[in-house]
Amino acid sequence: MQIITTTAEVRAAACKWRAAGERIAFVPTMGNLHEGHISLIERARAHGQRFIASIFVNPMQFGPNEDFNHYPRTPERDAEMLEAAGCDMLFIPDAKEIYPAGQEQATRVSVPAISDELCGAVRPGHFVGVTSVVARLFGIVQPDAAVFGRKDFQQLAIIRRMAQDLCMPIEIIGAPTVRAEDGLALSSRNQYLSVEERAQAPALYRSLQQAVKALQALSPKGISSEAIAAIEDESRAYLQGLGFKVDYFVVRDAASLLPYVYAAEVPGVVLAAARLGRARLIDNLEFDGI
Ligand code: AMP
Repeated sequence: MQIITTTAEVRAAACKWRAAGERIAFVPTMGNLHEGHISLIERARAHGQRFIASIFVNPMQFGPNEDFNHYPRTPERDAEMLEAAGCDMLFIPDAKEIYPAGQEQATRVSVPAISDELCGAVRPGHFVGVTSVVARLFGIVQPDAAVFGRKDFQQLAIIRRMAQDLCMPIEIIGAPTVRAEDGLALSSRNQYLSVEERAQAPALYRSLQQAVKALQALSPKGISSEAIAAIEDESRAYLQGLGFKVDYFVVRDAASLLPYVYAAEVPGVVLAAARLGRARLIDNLEFDGI
């Protein structure tokens, strides 16, 4: 696996591969890799012959009081994991490579409305940071396909919208969430949890499962906005009772992320974000049309 730090080197390698008729699949990350990230590389296999991963802890997507400085950085171990997974190239730029004129001067890409709610409401500016850096990474790598985790469901929806609106010729692929045996979605931020909090954390996934079960137990006619609101309220109360500080717990239309309105066969998703100690956990569970 090549490990490179400059745009010019990525371009040169990608150019050669493309000229040889090879499709390039790209997996952007912030590093501190776990099995969830590696599953994206495995997923990429079906969509290309060459695999590029990037590691960039993007300062633009962190708020002033967030964990940018403390975000776990483990580049040597990450590189070993990527190499073992069959990645061809690791792009690990510094901030100057990504924002040559400084972050404040950098072109921003913003996807309105959908970026302003859920995680966007709690973390103002977060998604503009995400779409701006992903657009720039797409411009550098020019992949045929890019793989993102469904764990960050809102992020995936926003990136799909950006790629579609800006006519980016890139197939955006959503990969399933990888979980620990007890159901907790793997995340670099899980290491902020104390032992007691880690034992409590799988309740987030359980609350999503309970909410989907409760929705499915309603008859189609019974899936009113009031019934949905009651399930959301109960779920919030359940998590709060266990010590979580709930940012949101909502049932949404999986395609638009707008509030779920029952119609036959419309897929939905229950999305939640909650803080437990120092960690902010997010998770979601999709359900088929009820
Ligand atoms: P991050 O390094 O946290 O920015 O994540 C990089 C990519 O890995 C994103 O597309 C995430 O959605 C994805 N990802 C993170 N955790 C998981 C997981 N547990 N399962 C699947 N994908 C994940």
